[in-house]
Amino acid sequence: MPQMTVLEILNRTKVFFEKKGVPDARLDAEYIICFGLGIKKRMDLYLNFDKPLSAAELDKLRPLVARRANREPLQHIVGDTSFRGHTIKCDTRALVPRPETEELVDMAKERLASVATPFIVEIGTGTGAIAIACAKEIPGAKVLATDVSAEALALAKENADANETPIEFAQGDLLDAVSGEAMAKAAGDASAKIDSLIANLPYIPDGEKGKLQPEVDKFDPELALYGGPDGLSLVRKMLKQTEGRLSAGASILLEIGSEQASVLESEAASYPWLEFTGIHKDFCGNIRFVSYKAK
Ligand code: SAH
Repeated sequence: MPQMTVLEILNRTKVFFEKKGVPDARLDAEYIICFGLGIKKRMDLYLNFDKPLSAAELDKLRPLVARRANREPLQHIVGDTSFRGHTIKCDTRALVPRPETEELVDMAKERLASVATPFIVEIGTGTGAIAIACAKEIPGAKVLATDVSAEALALAKENADANETPIEFAQGDLLDAVSGEAMAKAAGDASAKIDSLIANLPYIPDGEKGKLQPEVDKFDPELALYGGPDGLSLVRKMLKQTEGRLSAGASILLEIGSEQASVLESEAASYPWLEFTGIHKDFCGNIRFVSYKAK
């Protein structure tokens, strides 16, 4: 049998992925083949379309293709993703950071532009992506990142080390993790006030369990996904805990589900120390974030 070329393998993989319901079948086929063959840029794959593949190369590709066909996320297979250009290792210990979430960091940057050494707290850090981006991109930032999951925190620490970002981590439920001891380590003051509180907490309603796409349902940790009957249980609990913890004018920036924004707006009076400052869309035009300002 004549050897198959890169292009033939690419086409076969694409068709196989389509059959298995993989979203973006062609693109993921390209990424998997690049990864398996050690090709750094997709452009270089195009330049190699006519190259015949050796048996050894095919042996390398087969298990990778099988994993993606089983709907394992691409980011788990290749081992990392890019979040605002920072390389973030991804595995089953934490949710794969989504591109939409990157905008939370822009929102924080804008609001902290005139604060010299802002104390930023991220609740539910997962891989650490948001905290790492804040530490890298916001001058003078002191960052404390928390999670209830020890596994997620272990991964976040590996990512912070790999990105050479000095972040303080603490484990615990929501703001309980932001203890005097944790603040002393992160901000040098056990009674520090938070200048920006950022969170992408689990917000999928419990009723959606088992209905999500397999990449999420089977491979993202359940602890990272579900937020109670209407998805907002953790968000409400955290907002209540913010009383007295924020500096004047501090921001709270939350990623939420699109239908949850107006619910939070209608409940704004439950938190009289906060001003509801807006519902924000992501780059796809979907409602994705809400913001508050401390009075
Ligand atoms: N910030 C990351 C991860 C979001 S997933 C990102 O945007 O990509 C939500 C995270 O919240 C998970 O890591 C989960 O472990 C954490 N979490 C769930 N319940 C929590 C709680 N009660 N307190 C703190 N963190 C919690």
